[in-house]
Amino acid sequence: MAERLAALSVDLDEIPNYYAIHGLTAAADDERTRAVYARAVPRFRELFAELGVPCTFFVIGQDMADERALAEARMLAAAGHELGNHTQNHRYDLTRVGRADMKREVTEGIESVAKAFGRAPAGFRAPGYTITDELFEVLAECGVAYDSSVFPCPAYWSAKTAMIGLIRARGRRSHSIVDTPAVLTAPADPYRIGDPYWKRATTEGTMVELPIGVTRGARLPYIGTSVMAGGPTVAKALTAMIAGRPLVNLELHGVDLLGAREDGLEALAKHQRDLSVSVESKRSTLRSVVEQLRAQGYRFVTLFEAARAHMAR
Ligand SMILES: [Zn+2]
Repeated sequence: MAERLAALSVDLDEIPNYYAIHGLTAAADDERTRAVYARAVPRFRELFAELGVPCTFFVIGQDMADERALAEARMLAAAGHELGNHTQNHRYDLTRVGRADMKREVTEGIESVAKAFGRAPAGFRAPGYTITDELFEVLAECGVAYDSSVFPCPAYWSAKTAMIGLIRARGRRSHSIVDTPAVLTAPADPYRIGDPYWKRATTEGTMVELPIGVTRGARLPYIGTSVMAGGPTVAKALTAMIAGRPLVNLELHGVDLLGAREDGLEALAKHQRDLSVSVESKRSTLRSVVEQLRAQGYRFVTLFEAARAHMAR
């Protein structure tokens, strides 16, 4: 039997991206809009050092123009974590901007992340999990080794569609867009990307997809929003439901270690409800998830190591 692997990843979307999702605006000089790099990243670094787990951090290229954010990202790399490309500007409409702009978003992202990582990142994660065959072609042209954006989760898909409609009904415009429902039929375990991308490739040598975590059976979302915000009981139940997959791929966001009260984000917490859960509570949930997976025989690796393990099979 193949070894059971678990991988944690954190998308370092800075606070203004959440304002964009909810159709809100922020003052440019507000210190709180840098809370992800200034406060969450050091918390993740400390927690992962305590737990002895590696992680893959997906970095938005433009953030590396900020000296403090660049220094934080370099510290992550120095601590043995992997840095991946989360595009240069995190455009939610990336799949609709046309091929030239799409390619620029990917290549500039690679160059910016390389400044912090010391080498080109191997992995890619699309903004909002939205991906297309055209974007996969661009990734292949750019030499990307693996992608981790496919989220074959019916519950998430309907919730996102409903949320965009709700925001629109309130007279604001969300920058979020939804994927084709065909993504829901994609494999939930690592696979080589075929044509179309939600099918397995029958040939060798193509890019590896590491789908975002869903439970066995009902394919409930196994991501920070569901695992961390639900508290220890929900986290324990969801972890038991995903255990058994060859790879448990738990995708978190920088905001998963931020708190409305601790970090002065009360205004955003009205729209982003998981911010109301305290940092300490989220930290202890994450600790118990790691312990539970280890007890189930899982070994923690970076996503790149998980991709290599899949290619070697
Ligand atoms: Zn993102």
